[in-house]
Amino acid sequence: MNSKNQYHMQDPRSQYDLSKTFYDRSQPDPGLDERLKPTADHGEKSYQGASRLEGRKAVITGGDSGIGRAVAIAFAREGADVVLNYLSSEQTDGKDTEQYLKESGVNVYSIVGDISNEKFCLVLIDFAVNKLGSIDILVNNAGQQYYVENLAELSSEQFQKTYATNVFSMFWITKAAAPHMPKGSSIINTTSIQSYQPSAGLLDYASSKSAITGFTKSLAKMLINDGIRVNAVAPGPIWTPLQQSGGQPPEKLEDFGQGVPMGRPGQPAELAPMYVFLASQESSYITAEVMGVTGGGHLP
Ligand code: NAD
Ligand code: MG
Repeated sequence: MNSKNQYHMQDPRSQYDLSKTFYDRSQPDPGLDERLKPTADHGEKSYQGASRLEGRKAVITGGDSGIGRAVAIAFAREGADVVLNYLSSEQTDGKDTEQYLKESGVNVYSIVGDISNEKFCLVLIDFAVNKLGSIDILVNNAGQQYYVENLAELSSEQFQKTYATNVFSMFWITKAAAPHMPKGSSIINTTSIQSYQPSAGLLDYASSKSAITGFTKSLAKMLINDGIRVNAVAPGPIWTPLQQSGGQPPEKLEDFGQGVPMGRPGQPAELAPMYVFLASQESSYITAEVMGVTGGGHLP
């Protein structure tokens, strides 16, 4: 057993030796896990399932790479069938993720498409219901983040696309999915520490994440009437292609994540257990919450 994995007691600051080893500052858009250097840990070699989600049906947007891939691997090893969605430009990552999931013996289906388009969101949920029969877990995780130097550089087009991808899609997808979600289902939205501590260069992104936080709490109060729980996860700085492909200026990547008390960025694998917990019945009394996974950056 790898002593660096999540089951071995150790100093969390040195669990991943990333802080001094960045050697690729950026990659072209779209960012791919395939090109991420150093490679990220999605739990491919380590995550151990314990039947927490046996027989559940899950939909994960942005399931090709980064946090979404780690969540997908964990869900499959916990026994869930999974529908993955991602952009067509990220199919190489998507195929790799699909392969990891299939090794768990569960059913896996992928549908590529752009969730900033309302019609596609309906197609996605139709596809998922056709393949899975119902939706027990919905993970609204896909998102876009593009850093700008100043206000003048932030185009109206970018602002609208960020909101359509990060926020409006959650409304379209959730509204279409809810009628297919039985009591006991769980919705998990990926927000961000940026929701609470917005950076200057991320005006559109950070404010879209604040919208997701509010959306999650309000939706939770609506959907508990149908026996559905809704929560969000707020990651801190996590080592994924999102950051390398325009999410941060290249010079900032050099010390990415070192400003949090943990002194390093998080790995996607360190997020997955939180999503599994929120998806499973173990979190039965938790709804309308935002759970931080921030390396000590903490939520307010
Ligand atoms: P990632 O790039 O690996 O994942 C984001 C995925 O979203 C991409 O793989 C892409 O296929 C998908 N996507 C983007 N636009 C889309 C669109 N219009 N239609 C369909 N799919 C689309 O990066 P990640 O860091 O794992 O991001 C996952 C989530 O985590 C995002 O919501 C992001 O905002 C959030 N987040 C990331 C960090 C971090 O530091 N990496 C911190 C806080 C929150
Ligand atoms: Mg990707």
